[in-house]
Amino acid sequence: MSIEKNSAAPAANAPPSNFLRAIVDNDIAAGTHDRPGMPSVITRFPPEPNGYLHIGHAKSICLNFGMARDYNGRCHLRFDDTNPEKEDQEYVDTIMDSVKWLGFSWEQGGQAYLHYASDYFDQLYAMAEYLIEHGHAYVDSQSADDMAKNRGNFGTPGTNSPFRDRPAAESLQLLRDMKAGKYPDGAHILRAKMSDDAMASSIMTNRDPALYRIRHAHHHRTGDAWCIYPMYDYTHPISDALESITHSLCTLEFTDHRPFYDWLLATLAPGGFFTPPVPRQYEFSRLNLTYLVMSKRKLRQLVDENIVSGWDDPRMPTLVGLRRRGYSPESIQLFCERIGVSKADAWIDMSTLEGSLRDDLDPKAARAIAVLRPLKLIVDNFPAGETVECSAPVHPHHPEMGSRAFPFSKELWIEQEDFMETPVKGYFRFTPPTADKPGSRVRLKYGFIAECTGFDKDADGKVIAVHVNYFEDSKSGTPGADTYKVKGTITWVSAAHALEAEVRLYDRLFLDPNPDAGGKDFKLALNPNALETVTAYLEPSLAAAVGEQRFQFERHGYFVADSVDSTPGKPVFNRAVTLKDSWK
Ligand code: ATP
Ligand code: MG
Repeated sequence: MSIEKNSAAPAANAPPSNFLRAIVDNDIAAGTHDRPGMPSVITRFPPEPNGYLHIGHAKSICLNFGMARDYNGRCHLRFDDTNPEKEDQEYVDTIMDSVKWLGFSWEQGGQAYLHYASDYFDQLYAMAEYLIEHGHAYVDSQSADDMAKNRGNFGTPGTNSPFRDRPAAESLQLLRDMKAGKYPDGAHILRAKMSDDAMASSIMTNRDPALYRIRHAHHHRTGDAWCIYPMYDYTHPISDALESITHSLCTLEFTDHRPFYDWLLATLAPGGFFTPPVPRQYEFSRLNLTYLVMSKRKLRQLVDENIVSGWDDPRMPTLVGLRRRGYSPESIQLFCERIGVSKADAWIDMSTLEGSLRDDLDPKAARAIAVLRPLKLIVDNFPAGETVECSAPVHPHHPEMGSRAFPFSKELWIEQEDFMETPVKGYFRFTPPTADKPGSRVRLKYGFIAECTGFDKDADGKVIAVHVNYFEDSKSGTPGADTYKVKGTITWVSAAHALEAEVRLYDRLFLDPNPDAGGKDFKLALNPNALETVTAYLEPSLAAAVGEQRFQFERHGYFVADSVDSTPGKPVFNRAVTLKDSWK
C-alpha cells in the first residue's frame, strides 16, 4: 500500500461530498460570496408555519444547517409567513422545537438568526413600488378566469393582459389603494413584467408572475396591518438577499422559478435595497420515503379525519411523531447523511430510516426484558414465596454501563411462542415430555436451566401454563452453568415482580410502498394493523423509565416510554422499530 494513496483518502469523519459541496468549494476558491466580516457560506431553512415538520424537512434542515456547520458559516431559520389564513403561532413554536431537537441552532456568537418574512413586509412593499416605477411590474385587473385563460399552457403561449401597458402612475395608485383596503380580495393583482414577450415564455412561471394579492386576513404576527400580501416567489429571493444568504438550497420543483429569482434580484439591485453579491439558488431532489405520504396537506388529512391521533401520532412521519415513536435526533441525522443529496428523484426505502435508528441505538440503548405475549411458566420444584436474584449486563458490549438485577421465582411469564405442544423440526424451546422422550431443556436467560414436565389447558384447549423443574446448580454465571448443554435460550420475567404495562406495537402506516404515487388515493392503502396494543410484563426496573429513554427489549426491538400517556411509575411503551427488518 503506497503512502500517496493513503494520504489521498478522505479523513474518516469528513462529510460525504456531494454536488452542492462542490459548488460551495468552487465559490470559496473563486471568492464568489466574499464580503468583509461575513462567512462565505450562509444558508437558511425556510419553512412555512402552516403545519408540522416531517422527515422530508429534516433532509433540508440537515443539509442547510450541516453545510453552515461544516464551512464555518451560519444557517438562518426563516419563517416564510406570507399566507395568513393557513399560518399560526402554534406551528412556529413546534417548528422551532423540532429544529432544536434535531440538534441544530440558529444562534451564533450571541446572535439569533431567527427571521420572519413578515418582518420584511415594509421593504417588500417598497420594492414593489420601485418595480412599478421602473416599468417592471403592473397592476392587473383582469378577472381570475381571464387571467387563467390568458396564461396559456405548456404548449401554448399566453396572451398579454389588456392592463399590461397601463401607465406606471396608474399601477402605483392602484397598488396604494389595494394596500389602503379600497378593494375586495381578488379585485387586482400586482404582476411582474420580466420582458416584453414574457407571456410567451416556455417557462410558465415567467409569464408575468404574481407579486402581491389582496387578502383581507388576519396575520399571526402583523395582525390587521396589511390586506395585501406578497407571493412566496417574490418574497423568497428578497428575504434571501436581505439576509445575505449565499446559497439558497431548495427542492427541484423550484428549478423553473430560478430565472425569476435571478431576474428579480438583478432588477432590484440598482435600487440599493441590499448589498451584493446576491444569493444563488440551487436545487436538490426532495425526499420521498416508501410506505409514507409526506405532503403536509395529506398529513393534515390523516389528522383531521382522525385516522391518526394527532400530528404527534407515533405512526406519522412528522418529527414530533418520530420523536414520540422513539426516534433519536442522531438517528435522523445519520439517515440524512446516508441518503445524501443529489438531483435524482428517487424513493428511499423505509428500511433505510429504520436501519439508521437500529444502528444509532444498538451501541447505546440499555437492554431490558419484556414479555409481550405472556404465558405462565410454573417452576414446580422451586419453593413458593422465595426468590433468587439474577443479574444481567445493561449492555452486552459495554460493561461500563453496569448491570441490572431482577428476581427469579416460582411463577414466571414467558412468551407464548416459547412453548410448543407438538414441536416442529428445529424447535429448541419448551416442549412437553412424550412416551419415549423427556421434556426439552431450555436456559431461562440470566437464570437457570429448566426441563419441561407438562402443561395445563383450559376448557377450550388453550395452553394456559407450562410446568418445568429447574436445576439449582445451573445458574448463569456460576461454574455449574456449563455442565448443562441446551440448544434454546428464552427470556422471562418473574410474575409476582414484573411491571404490567401497556405496550404499543407500531408498524408502518401504509401497506403500499408508494401510497400516493400517480395520484392514487393514499387512504386506500392504510395498514389496518399499524397499531397493536398489548398488555405486557416487563422487567421491574422499567417502572422507573423516564421520558425519551430508549431501551432494547431483548428479542423484540427498540422501545421508548410514551411521552404523552406514561405516568410516574406506570410507563406506556412504544415500539420504535423491531430488531430485524421483517419487511424484506
Ligand atoms: P410540503 O410539500 O410537505 O407541504 P413544503 O415544501 O410546502 O412541504 P415548506 O415549509 O415550504 O414545506 O418547506 C420548508 C423547506 O423544506 C423548503 O425549503 C422545502 O424545499 C423543504 N422540504 C419540504 N419537503 C421536503 C422533502 N420532502 N425533502 C426535502 N426537502 C423538503
Ligand atoms: Mg411550501
